[in-house]
Amino acid sequence: MFDKLVIANRGEIALRILRACRELGIKTVALYSEADRDTIYVRLADESVCIGPPKAAQSYLNIPAVLSAAEVTGANAIHPGYGFLSENADFAEHAEASGFIFVGPRPDTVRLMGDKVSALKAMTAAGVPCLPNSGGLLPEAPGSAAKIAARIGYPVIIKAAAGGGGRGMRVVHEEQKLAEAAALTRSEAAAAFGSNHVYMEKYLEQPRHVEVQVMSDGAGNSVCLGDRDCSMQRRHQKVIEEAPAPGIADAQRRDIAGRCIKACREINYRGAGTFEFLYQDGEFYFIEMNTRLQVEHTVTEMVTGLDLVKLQLRIADGGRLPAAAKNARLRGHALECRINAEDPATFAPSPGRITRYHPPGGPGVRVDSHVFSDYQVPPFYDSMIGKIISHGGSREEAILRMRGALAETVVEGIATNIPLHLSILEDAAFARGGANIFYLESKLARGKLTAGAG
Ligand code: ADP
Repeated sequence: MFDKLVIANRGEIALRILRACRELGIKTVALYSEADRDTIYVRLADESVCIGPPKAAQSYLNIPAVLSAAEVTGANAIHPGYGFLSENADFAEHAEASGFIFVGPRPDTVRLMGDKVSALKAMTAAGVPCLPNSGGLLPEAPGSAAKIAARIGYPVIIKAAAGGGGRGMRVVHEEQKLAEAAALTRSEAAAAFGSNHVYMEKYLEQPRHVEVQVMSDGAGNSVCLGDRDCSMQRRHQKVIEEAPAPGIADAQRRDIAGRCIKACREINYRGAGTFEFLYQDGEFYFIEMNTRLQVEHTVTEMVTGLDLVKLQLRIADGGRLPAAAKNARLRGHALECRINAEDPATFAPSPGRITRYHPPGGPGVRVDSHVFSDYQVPPFYDSMIGKIISHGGSREEAILRMRGALAETVVEGIATNIPLHLSILEDAAFARGGANIFYLESKLARGKLTAGAG
């Protein structure tokens, strides 16, 4: 097995990857910006290298800085985590060209799935259900775009082909607004993603977000490790995730899993991946594939008993999917609450020093976090400071355990969204399961969640 791995990320996922490496006897190199010098994973790593100033563009997103730091350490593999360079095909390509093992799919797969138009085409060809769409780039001529929209049926959504992070999309309800919306989305896409390519698909008004976890060894073996529901969202950012997705019939789960596995075979997928779907009126519609580990991989780990990061590392090393993964069975139900350093009412970021910290514990409770008492939450990055995960024999038990865990958690000195989580967990629609992606925002807009009542 490769013996030294560079962790090209920060925060809880850096610590998560480090832990998996320790179990496999792989030495670790932590890369950090000047803002992350005093972190637990930098201390625990076998080696560490500072890659630049706090701003991500100058450190965690700086490909030459990351690769040259990796080179001086003599490491032979790079794990990109999630976010930052994890879905950057150029990075994957440069890493491989420099002789590193990139823990992820082949660079051409990252590129194929990173362009949503080519991803939709590949998935349609593989028999994965997609929404009615423009079948390619949206033509610039307003007349042609209007014809496509009429065929799809309003409302439609115009999306940047290179988009990500919930940005670069616009809903259109009528033909009069179409030309202007297309032009605006094109110029936004050009500014934000360096490409003005846009496409169009049907807009769904009350979908759930249901995603499917796959793992492939790049040698023809793929397995589906179940699904997750991530419909509790604010501004397209997931807040709570769970596995399995509630209320979906087993036959339909098996059908969509089979289609995802077939698609993996057709694109010769390698590593961990997630097929993201919108789910409405009992039907799945593919929206994108994430070619990396996801924040919410933990809930899949809890219900399968597998370590997805160790599987990633073994596959990156050329290993085959082990029998434990091929024969994985789902047990019970798991929830994940993303703990953010933010004001629970205004959502304003709340960086600063954590003066007191006490994580929860007990049966079926897991905490993935890099923070500690006296840790300084930097203002430069995503506000997530960790994740609390609960597992129970049933969804009800997982919810009860999560409530207890959140109530036990102490984070002082900064504000967190723990009160928001507690009120969601008391909400009647959440308790029923299957709320759609607009539910949380509409509740918040009506001020119904802050009081903690369903
Ligand atoms: P990104 O790569 O920016 O995350 P996605 O294509 O995954 O973009 O979409 C992000 C979110 O936008 C989805 O989770 C959903 O909330 C919303 N969305 C995207 N496409 C549609 C659609 N066709 N209908 C309704 N909502 C959509």
